[in-house]
Amino acid sequence: MSDGASFIFNAVEKICSKVKTHLMCYFHLKKSVKSNFAAKGVDKKDRNSILRSIDHLHRMISQDQFQVYYALFQTEYSCYKDFLKYFDSVWVSDESKTTKWKFSDCEPNVFFTNNICESLNASLKRDYTNRERKPLHQFLKILKDVFIDIAKERKKIHSFPQIPTQLKIKASKLEAKDLFISKNNYFFLPKNCETKLEESDLEMFLENRYNTLKEFQDHLEKLIVLKWDVERKVTICFCHDGYTKGVCIHKLALDMHQGRLSKLILLQPTGKRGRKRKAAKALEKEINLVLKKSKKM
Ligand SMILES: [Zn+2]
Repeated sequence: MSDGASFIFNAVEKICSKVKTHLMCYFHLKKSVKSNFAAKGVDKKDRNSILRSIDHLHRMISQDQFQVYYALFQTEYSCYKDFLKYFDSVWVSDESKTTKWKFSDCEPNVFFTNNICESLNASLKRDYTNRERKPLHQFLKILKDVFIDIAKERKKIHSFPQIPTQLKIKASKLEAKDLFISKNNYFFLPKNCETKLEESDLEMFLENRYNTLKEFQDHLEKLIVLKWDVERKVTICFCHDGYTKGVCIHKLALDMHQGRLSKLILLQPTGKRGRKRKAAKALEKEINLVLKKSKKM
C-alpha cells in the first residue's frame, strides 16, 4: 500500500517482484480527484455527488459489479469528458498501476489508506531529524531511537480485532429482530435495521438490474451485504467498518444468528434501584422501639 508516487511502484516492482497486490491509498486517490476538479472543468454543484459515487465504486464487492456501476457513472457524468478521461487513465485503465483501491481488489480486514505511515513519517521529520536530510548511517541510528521510544510507550498490539461489549449488546438486539435473508451464499440486512427486505431487492442486487446511477446508489444505500467465506470460514460484511476493520454490528449479529458467537442477554431490572422504602420504615420502627425501651429504663 502506498500513495501514487511512481518511484514507489517502480521500486516495489524491482525489489519485491513477488508482491501480488500493490494497493493504492484511497485517501490519496480522493485528494487527487478533488485537486483535479477545477482543472478538468467539473462544476462545483456536481463535485460532492461525484465523490459519493467514487465512494460507491470503492466499495464494490466484485469486479462485475464494479463494471456495471462504472458504466452508469460514465453515462451520468458524460458532460465532463476531460474529467472522465483523467479518472479512467489514472484510476481504472489496465495500463495504469494505481488501480487497486477497491474492496474487490483485496482480502477483507485491510487498510485502505497509508495514513499510519504518513503520520510516522511526519513525526520522524518533526521530532527526530528536524527536517534535515541525513546520511544513511546517521538515519539508521535515528531510526533505532524511534523504535526504542515506541517500545517505551508499551502500546498493546492486537493480532485479532477487539470486540467491545457494547457492540455485542447492540448486535444481540439486532439479531433478535430476525431480519436476515439469505440468497446465493450472501446474506442481506436492511440498512435501517428495521423493516425486512423484499425478495425483489435481493434479485435486483444479485442480477445488477439497474438502469441509472441514481437507481443503483439509492438501492446500495438501502442494503447491507454479508457473505460466508467458505474457505476461510469467516463472515465478511461489505459495510465500511466490516470490511476494513473486520468487526461490525452486522457481522456479529450474523455470527450470533448462525450460532458461531454467543448472544448477550441483558437481565432487565424489575423495579427501582436502591433499598426499598419499606426497609427504611421498618428500620424507623426498630429505632423507635429501642428509644422507647431506653426511656423506660
Ligand atoms: Zn457491517
